[in-house]
This record gives sequence, structure tokens and C-alpha cells, in this order.
Amino acid sequence: MDLQTGPDPVLFIDGEDSLAISPVAARQHLVVIGNGMAGCRAVEELLARDGANWRVTIFGAEPHVNYNRIMLSPVLAGEKSFDEIVINPRAWYDDNGIELVASDPVIAIDRAACTITSRSGRTIGYDRLLIATGSDPFIIPVPGHDLPGVISFRDMNDVETMLTASATGGSAVVIGGGLLGLEAAHGLTLRGMNVTVLHLMPTLMERQLDEAAGWLLKSALEARGQVILTGADTAEIFGEGRVEGVRLKDGRKIPASLVVMAVGIRPSVRLAREAGLAVGRGIQVDDHMVTSDARVLAVGECVEHDGQVYGLVAPLWDMCRSLADGLVGTANPYRGSVTSTKLKVSGIDVFSAGDFSGGEGCEDIVLRDAARGIYKRVVLRGDRVVGAVLYGDTADGSWYFDLLKKGTDIADLRDVLIYGQAFAAGGGPADPNAAVAALPADAEICGCNGVTKGQVVECIGAGAASLDAVRQGCKASASCGSCTGLVETLLALTLGEAVESGPKTMCGCTSFGHDDVRQAIVAQGMRSIPEVMQRLHWSTPDGCSSCRPALNYYLLCALPGEYVDDQQSRFVNERLHANIQKDGTYSVVPRMWGGLTNPRELRAIADVVEKFNAPMVKVTGGQRLDIFGIRKEDLPAVWADLNAAGMVSGHAYGKSLRTVKTCVGSEWCRFGTQDSTGLGVKAERMTWGSWMPHKFKIAVSGCPRNCAEATIKDFGIVCVDSGYELHVGGNGGIKVRVTDLLCKVATEEEALEHCAAFIQLYREEARYLERTAPWIERVGLPYIQERLLGDAEERAALAERFHHSQTFSQDDPWRQRVEGADAHLHQHLEPAE
Ligand SMILES: Cc1cc2nc3c(=O)[nH]c(=O)nc-3n(C[C@H](O)[C@H](O)[C@H](O)COP(=O)(O)OP(=O)(O)OC[C@H]3O[C@@H](n4cnc5c(N)ncnc54)[C@H](O)[C@@H]3O)c2cc1C
Ligand code: SF4
Repeated sequence: MDLQTGPDPVLFIDGEDSLAISPVAARQHLVVIGNGMAGCRAVEELLARDGANWRVTIFGAEPHVNYNRIMLSPVLAGEKSFDEIVINPRAWYDDNGIELVASDPVIAIDRAACTITSRSGRTIGYDRLLIATGSDPFIIPVPGHDLPGVISFRDMNDVETMLTASATGGSAVVIGGGLLGLEAAHGLTLRGMNVTVLHLMPTLMERQLDEAAGWLLKSALEARGQVILTGADTAEIFGEGRVEGVRLKDGRKIPASLVVMAVGIRPSVRLAREAGLAVGRGIQVDDHMVTSDARVLAVGECVEHDGQVYGLVAPLWDMCRSLADGLVGTANPYRGSVTSTKLKVSGIDVFSAGDFSGGEGCEDIVLRDAARGIYKRVVLRGDRVVGAVLYGDTADGSWYFDLLKKGTDIADLRDVLIYGQAFAAGGGPADPNAAVAALPADAEICGCNGVTKGQVVECIGAGAASLDAVRQGCKASASCGSCTGLVETLLALTLGEAVESGPKTMCGCTSFGHDDVRQAIVAQGMRSIPEVMQRLHWSTPDGCSSCRPALNYYLLCALPGEYVDDQQSRFVNERLHANIQKDGTYSVVPRMWGGLTNPRELRAIADVVEKFNAPMVKVTGGQRLDIFGIRKEDLPAVWADLNAAGMVSGHAYGKSLRTVKTCVGSEWCRFGTQDSTGLGVKAERMTWGSWMPHKFKIAVSGCPRNCAEATIKDFGIVCVDSGYELHVGGNGGIKVRVTDLLCKVATEEEALEHCAAFIQLYREEARYLERTAPWIERVGLPYIQERLLGDAEERAALAERFHHSQTFSQDDPWRQRVEGADAHLHQHLEPAE
């Protein structure tokens, strides 16, 4: 039955061919909804197998013939014209007797009658229906999303709108830093617009790239003039009658005459759902693309196969082959696809494939070449490649992808895998040492300092038996460190077993020690964790639980007010601003300045204890009250109540100033020589909130009887008749250490200045997780005295740097959380069903 009401598709076939072809009326009628990449490819596959027995009608919502959608980006960028991206020109339809009904979307499917109806009112029958409607761009429903000038990036019409908008220059905002968003931003930048990319997540293309590659990409795009704002949450798109800009939830406003939303796609399933077909995330199909109705097939981005939906073209080709085989009765089931991604931004090479989340059971092989902007990471599980992320040099992408898809055993290639296919296939034993050994003497090893292999070997020959010694001897590996591996290989080749291990490295991710890393951060002006990892050639993609918190601290210390603290690089207690206890609950310690409190605070604490059923309150060794047994999800409410009584976080969980313990001093005690309590309060007001290499405790005792135990604190003040004795480096923990006497001063102001300067010296020079006691034992008291007492100006400068940094850190973290920051961290977790 054919209820076609529009003009008949006409197929004139003369001569011999007509003998082989069934009469038009006898052929099965395939109606295709969607003139896009999958729909047309499916038709091509079918015609190639059994063209004689099918006639085809294709309905397209767009006015165009079938074109290559992925090439819209080069069209926008001016690298291609529309004609150059056409896959099937008009002649293809004519030659194959295909009727194309363009600009006329199908609006309904009647499965009982086997008909479809289009917007223009045409109703035609089908023997088989193929739904290939692709995806719909997701539009964030923020206020203003429907203003003129707000578009998506899906079809040629969107490209034309962007080209018109960019003709007059101006500013554009692209919402979404994924593949599409970045390609749109690139094209608009080349067309002369000032482009800002807003991305909600901390790194670009986070679904395809790890943090390291995402950072490199961001840096490269910024170098091309784009403004990239990560962690940017759109609140509204504003404008009178048309778009004028975007406002973020943090209040920032970005002017724009064009807003491109590229935040994701959703399979286009409305028609199928309304027709009563089985629909999950996409139209559900079997292994030959047949839907829940045997007469209706579906293919492309609109389908869900085995629980998966796809947003890239490669799977479509496999789907189309299985579909066509199924239609002609050949078994060729579709079994799902593994995908890879390449970004089409000229000059920026990015490749990703498979699973790069890593984790337990996985091993990362990483190669970084900072000078050439290269980052390569291959993820292995057992002896198989399961993922790859390449930045800067993607030549081996398809090789890794092939190894991944085929599940090839790479045990024999493991040592050379990261150097790529050419190296691995280079003949002889796949041994990187052999490659280094084969280098000529004049081969440059260290690009930063222009040191050749011959000079390194000579340096080793002259007695340099460790990496550090080579660095000092000939400067190889002493700058960016990218040649560290080569130098180590030369050491091994030259000295064999006699190589001396250098000072302890920060962790297994790097060959650098803490001090080298800190110096490099300052000297090279590094500004983020991924930047440090790239420039210092980390051997892991994202570092580990040892180096990440350390790097976060070093950057925080080096760039006060500028570096944004990375919560993910903090230990759980610091992330939650409370101490996790054995039973999974938290303990909360509000600050009590100098150990003083008052009825209001005590009442608030008592109320919190009752309201949240805290099972225990304990007086701590640092003269604070510790409320135990608070559930994670209750923490913000507890803090709100304590904040309301004027109390802030006691940082009892942090690598930071913990407490200033005091005695009652001259105000109450008959032995007191000075106002130790008042001085303690001042010291605590000055130092609270500061992040340090480790926890830090202060105490002030009013006389040498030392009731506040100042001589086992990191910084202790013992008041005496003539002034203040200042003590440093004490510890009351596992290994008790009595303080060293730093000096004696006459006034409170001097005591506070020395305190600030000492803390800043400790902050700037101690290694992360090194308390003051081992630090002083390592560097020696004379060094500390020289730095703090030798030159009053230097001391004042240290104190000044401390005060400057405090202007950014004395913001109560509890208050921030009460106001909603990082609310997800405190969400209640429902038990799994
Ligand atoms: C700018 C851009 C860049 C891309 N880059 C890449 C890339 O680099 N690599 C990659 O693998 N993939 C890329 N993709 C994704 C790729 O283009 C898609 O995976 C592919 O086009 C999906 O094919 P499809 O046929 O399922 O959908 P489409 O190609 O979108 O075709 C669906 C067609 O159906 C039409 N349609 C919808 N509803 C109806 C209706 N009711 N009636 C009639 N017609 C209808 C639509 O108008 C559209 O023409 C990119 C996509 C875009 C937009
Ligand atoms: S340290 Fe001295 S001043 Fe302070 S309480 Fe003890 S005896 Fe009194």
C-alpha cells in the first residue's frame, strides 16, 4: 500500500539494466527520516547490496543535500566551503532514483497504517521505515536562553548564523568547553571575534582528556587569544530584545553579541516515542538496528544499542553495515563500538581513546616533553592498552587505538610503547637504553642549557656519580628537567651499579625533590599543578596523594591571592574542614582566641551539642572544646549555628595554625610578668587561617614556670620581667622536642614581628609535611637565626609577606560552606538499593 500524496518518485531505467531491476511498484519502499550522515550512509550500504529491490524516499529537515556534519567546524573556520563537505550531491539522489524531500520534517509516524506525515502535510506509506534523526543540541534552560543571538552548533544553518554575526566582529561567548564548543570558539576566533569559552568543569574536554592534556589545551587556546573560564557556571543570558551578554553565578558579566551553546547533545527521539516505540536514552534497537517494531529501523546518534548511545561518526558506519546486511538477510550483528576523538583545531593536536580514568589495576606510562609541548599517556590493564591520551604529537594515535581495539598483548613492547610505533618497530631489541647509547657525542641532551651527550659523559667521568652531581657539574637536567630520564640513562650506561641515588625525590611521580620543585615553581613562574607536572616531566598523569597536596601548598604559598586552592588536592579533613573519626562522623572545634571563651559561645556550643545529638564534648590539649560525633551532612548547619555566635573554624584539621595556648599571665597570676593571654590573642588573630607545610602550634606563658608549655610548641613565647623569650621548633608529639631559644626581645610588637617572620620562613622553605622541629634540625638553628636576626630588613620583609598572604586566607571556610560553597561535599548519601 502506498498512500503517497505528493509527486511520485520517478525512476527511468532503459535498456538491459531494466531487465535486472524489479518494476517500481514491486520494490519495497524504504522511507528514511533524516538526510544526515547515518541515514544516507545506510541507504548507500543497502543500495550497494540490493539496489534493485528497493526504492527510497528520504525526508530531511534541512534544506541541503547530504553533507559531512563533522566538517562544519572547518567551514566555520574558513578552511572549507560548503560544496567541499557535501558527501552526496543532487546527482547521487537522481542516479539512484531516491526522492529527497528536503526542508520538510516528518512530524508523525502511524505504525498501524505504516505511514508517515510531514510538516507540509504529505502522508506516504512505507514497507520499511528508517529513523535517522540524529541528536538535538541540549540548551541549558537559563533565563535568556531563547533570546535572538543564542544558538547551538549542529547544522549548516548555525554556521551561517555564526558567519553573519562574526562579519561585524564583536564578542562571542561559547558555553561549553567540549569538542564542539572549542571548535566553535576556534572558528569564531579565526573570524575575528573576541571569544570567551565558559566551561563548568575544572578542565576542558574532561570526558576525552585528563587534567594534564586539558591544561595544555587550555594554555594553547589562551595563547591564541581566547579567554577560557573553567568552573564557570552560567546564571543567565541577558539582553534587551537580543543577546548582550552572559552573567555567571559568581556575578561576573561577559558581554557578547553571540552566544553559542555547546553543552551536549541528546538523541532525537520525540517522533519515535510518540509513535510508541521502545525508547530509553535513545531509540532502542537490536544488533541489526531493528526497533521494537520489526518494520521500523533506526540508526545513528538517535539510537541506543545495548545501553549505549554515541556522539561520534565511527560507530555509525558499523551500524549502517549491520543494518543493510540485516535488510538483505545476512547476519552481521552490530556489537557496539570503541571510539576515539580528535580535536579539529588546526595546529593543536589532541587525541584520546578508550578509558583513561586509570585507577586500581591500571598502569600509566607517561611521556612529557615540556620544550615541545608534548604529553603522551598510555593506560594499561595487565598487558593490554585500555586508553590513550595524546597532546602535541598524535601521530601514534591510530596505532594505540588499534592495539586497544584488538586487545593486543603488548608485553614485549611495554618498555618502548610510549615512544610510538616507529620506535617500537625500529628493529633490534626494543631497548631505549640502546637508543641513548647510540647517540653521537655531540647530540644535545639538555636543550635548556645546551649540554651535549659528550659533556654529560665527561662530567660523569670526572666524578659526578648522581643526578644531582651531574646537575651541578654541567647543568644538564638542572632547568626544566625534561632530559632527566636521558641523564639517568647516561649515568646508568656509564657507571652501572656505581650510580649514587640522589636526595629523596618528592614521590614516585618525579625525579625532583621538594626543594627543586619549589625553586622551579618560583623561578619559572609556574601557576598551576598541571603546569608543574608538564614542565617538570611528571611520570604520572595527575600525580599522587603525596605530590598533589604538596604542589597545591607550594603554589598557594608562592602565589597568594592568585592561585586558586585545589580542593581535590587536599586530604579529606581539609576538604571537609573537620576531623573524620573512627566511626565516619566528624569532630568540630570552633576557634577560641587564646583559649578564651564567654557565655555566648558556650551556650552556642551547648545548643549545638543538644541539637545535633553530639555524644561527646572534650577539652583539647590546645585549650579548645571539641564536639564529637557530627554527621557529614550536618556540618554546614553546625557551622551556621557556631558562626551565628561569632565563632569561626578552629582549623583543628589543617596543615595550618592550630591553636595559641596561653596562661592567665599578669592579669590574674601573681607570678605573671606580662599579659600572656592578651599577647596570645593577638598572636592568634594574626596567624589564624594561614596554610603551612604542617600543623603549627603557638603558646604564650606569662613567666618561666611555663604553664602554657611554650617550650614544646612550634613557636613559644615565655614572658620574663625584661621582655619576651622567643622559642622555636618544639614538639610535644611522638618524639618530644624542646624548643631552641631563638632570641629575646623587649616588646610585644617585636615578639609578633619575629613570630610572623619565622612562620613565613617556615612556610617558604620547609618541605610539605615537615614540622618545624625536623626542619630546624635539618637546616640548623644558626641558619634560622641568621635569616631572622641577621638583617632586620629581611625579617621585616618576611613578616610583610606573611601579612600579605594572610589578607587572602583569613576568610572563615565554615562561613563559605554555610553560604553554599562545595555543597556537594556534604550531601547525604542514600544507601545503595
Ligand atoms: C560541528 C560538529 C563537529 C563534529 N565533529 C565530529 C568529529 O570530529 N568526529 C566525529 O566522529 N563526530 C563529529 N561530530 C558528530 C557527528 O557529526 C555525528 O555523530 C553524526 O553527524 C551523526 O549522524 P546522524 O545521522 O545520526 O545525525 P545527523 O548527521 O545530525 O543527521 C540527522 C539529520 O536528521 C534530520 N532530522 C531530524 N529530525 C528530523 C525529522 N523529524 N524529519 C526529517 N529530518 C529530521 C536533521 O536535520 C539532520 O539533518 C560533529 C558534529 C558537529 C555538529
Ligand atoms: S606561666 Fe607563670 S604567669 Fe602563667 S600561669 Fe603559670 S605561673 Fe602564672
